[in-house]
Amino acid sequence: MDRVDATSMRDALVGSIDESWVGRRINVCGWVARRREHGEHLAFLDLRDRSGILQCVVEGTLDVRSEYVVRVTGTVTRRPEGTLNLRLATGAVELTECELEILSVAEPVPFPLDERTEVDESTRLRYRFLDLRREGLQRALRLRASVTATLRAAMSAQEFVEVETPLLWAPTPEGAREFVVPSRLHAGEFYVLPQSPQIAKQLLMVGGFDRYFQVARCLRDEDLRADRQFEFTQLDLEASFVTQEDIMGFVSRAVAEAARVATGEDPGEFATMTWAEALDRFGTDKPDLRFGLELRNLTESFSGTEVKAFQAPAVKALRVPGGAEFSRARLDTLTEQARQLGAKGLAWFRVTSDGLDSPLARFLNETETASLAGVDGAVPGDLILVVADEFALASRVLGALRLTLGAPPVSEGPYKYVWVTEFPMFEGVDEDGHLVAAHHPFTMPHPDDLDLIDTDPLRVRSAAYDLVLNGWELGSGSVRIHRSDIQSRIFSALGITPEEAESRFGFLLGAFRYGAPPHAGFAFGIDRLVAIFAGVDNIREVIAFPKTQSGADLMTGAPKSIPERQMRELRLRPVAKG
Ligand code: ASP
Repeated sequence: MDRVDATSMRDALVGSIDESWVGRRINVCGWVARRREHGEHLAFLDLRDRSGILQCVVEGTLDVRSEYVVRVTGTVTRRPEGTLNLRLATGAVELTECELEILSVAEPVPFPLDERTEVDESTRLRYRFLDLRREGLQRALRLRASVTATLRAAMSAQEFVEVETPLLWAPTPEGAREFVVPSRLHAGEFYVLPQSPQIAKQLLMVGGFDRYFQVARCLRDEDLRADRQFEFTQLDLEASFVTQEDIMGFVSRAVAEAARVATGEDPGEFATMTWAEALDRFGTDKPDLRFGLELRNLTESFSGTEVKAFQAPAVKALRVPGGAEFSRARLDTLTEQARQLGAKGLAWFRVTSDGLDSPLARFLNETETASLAGVDGAVPGDLILVVADEFALASRVLGALRLTLGAPPVSEGPYKYVWVTEFPMFEGVDEDGHLVAAHHPFTMPHPDDLDLIDTDPLRVRSAAYDLVLNGWELGSGSVRIHRSDIQSRIFSALGITPEEAESRFGFLLGAFRYGAPPHAGFAFGIDRLVAIFAGVDNIREVIAFPKTQSGADLMTGAPKSIPERQMRELRLRPVAKG
């Protein structure tokens, strides 16, 4: 028989056995999912493999327990009238006259391996090999494999070549804390696990690979969250002789192809907006475009306000349809959230047919009242929330309230992709008074803003861009600096001295002296993309062996101490456990 799922031990996966097999005597292998005795002489056994479940009828007693591994030889038979099981794909047939061979016995498992049972996560992680047998992870990891395969194919079709870059490497410029690996042969020296293949891929451009990609494992020693693990997988790419638009095109095509395979839907053209617009309309650089509740800017109407609370560089408002019904307790919770995010307060106005209802309403002049009452097409029954502060802060606070009030779970459709462009070059100033790079120090400033680097650096835009899906940042990239004069200016703005630049990135800067093509790139998280497609909001659900929130691997016990001999070899001294 010429089936791909057949092996020397089995003729097919159980899920494929249907009425067309009736009459054949076959071998199938798998785990005992369930067994039922029917009197003394008849037993039913549900055999499970990765494809589904098949009922096997055994005469005599059954000497197996749940999760035993067995090979069953039996005859495919149509089930008797009235015993069809429509919930099973194989529910019209069963195996009869079965002979059973036990391939492996199993102790009682710590939790039932069906989808219905809720099992707490630490038990699932400790027994991940059992959790993996369950349908959820089987489905998620297979989805992941098909997304990755699709991405690879889409990149190859666009003439990108996959190149592997080292895991034992030197510091990379992403700015996160690094994992270090002590060197045995070079006592007292360390490798660094790459936060990304950033420098390696730029060197590949110098090396003449004008379209590189890699399904790359990246490692960052940062606090873990639902959308973050120490190690994660990126689709990493870089290309030469390209513009930002070229890169966005390559990535959009690959992601759209993966989306079609994973969801069956064509995502259409991805939206694009500048960072400034995203902040203004959504109060974040990760705008979730699945729902409205856009922020409005009322700064102008309030420019001459007498009300102290509104005397601020920016006055921003958010209309909440139907929100006039919110209880005082709910309004207090929102106010508290605004305060925790740094706002001095949160003003609220109920829109009624008699005008605005709010403790502040009587202090407003006519223009202010009119602008609030009509904001965003407000009608009686709505609530208007207002934050007055610096533009960015007011926007961010209302952006967070917008999510609290309206955001569906990240993985809920529709899928809304948006490219956010023109990120600021610098995100602020550190304790030493040096600018901090928003992306990484090789990011090209926006060509129109080069003159601002020395005069007004915080206004410099960069040629950096992010791809956002349903409010989650999928990935980022930028056009890189390939000219040493611009690179020196950026290093000096960041407070990186020529000596430090030489010691950290000297090999890259050195390589650039030998003919660096203009280049740009991008990287996005495959874990996040698959999680959204799989309908889960935690990337641990799409990773075979994830770590807990505190970075522990409950199955292997890592991180662990190592034998003293190994410590000595690495010139490491034991310390008391922290
Ligand atoms: N290396 C960057 C990152 O991992 C992405 C890029 O700029 O290509 O975020």
